Amino acid sequence: MPRALHLERHLVARIGWLRAAVLGANDGIVSTASLIVGVASAATGRPEILIAGAAGLVAGAMSMAAGEYVSVSSQSDTEKADLARETAELADDPEAELRELTGIYVSRGLDPALARQVAEQMTARDALGAHARDELGISEVTSARPIQAALTSALTFSVGAALPLLVAILAPLGLVPVAVSAASLLFLAVLGAVGARAGGAGMVRPTLRVMFWGALAMAITAGIGSLVGTAV
Ligand SMILES: [Zn+2]
Repeated sequence: MPRALHLERHLVARIGWLRAAVLGANDGIVSTASLIVGVASAATGRPEILIAGAAGLVAGAMSMAAGEYVSVSSQSDTEKADLARETAELADDPEAELRELTGIYVSRGLDPALARQVAEQMTARDALGAHARDELGISEVTSARPIQAALTSALTFSVGAALPLLVAILAPLGLVPVAVSAASLLFLAVLGAVGARAGGAGMVRPTLRVMFWGALAMAITAGIGSLVGTAV
């Protein structure tokens, strides 16, 4: 296999994973930084700020993992149901399934005779695998892995959330809102650029976009935090 094609296939598989990781970390930064800035703007002490930040990290990671597990599990359920139906169809009418597979290969550009030959050989080797991959689009790389997805999103969220929390630990108490906001915008910019680069897109617009929404989220929570702080 030519080296470029081999490298490209691997990159494609990695892009999906990298994008999910960048999105998870983005969520972690924006939600935890906003929480910390909001609580710190209510003029509270460092213990309260850190407790709120740590609780936000854990709660966010858990809800991301739960949400991801539930959504990917339902995708996995659908895949299993499709495979079970396909198995039944292969058992009920193998000739019709062979014609169907042949038709798929013809639609991809093979001559009918060659398509029939390929379909026969694929069917002889692994009928369900051939139909899963070429008819249903279910393959090893794309098949749903709920636990892996849940762990990945919880982990990336936690890494993202740990960044503003670290700044809240290290910054002078009076400067926590400003330091966390500035540092979080920087983290978002780096992640935005990495995510855009991974997707092969230009870096400026996506980076500005993620910084804008991050800044807006932190500004609104800081405003509400200081309102609540003066009211309480
Ligand atoms: Zn089929």
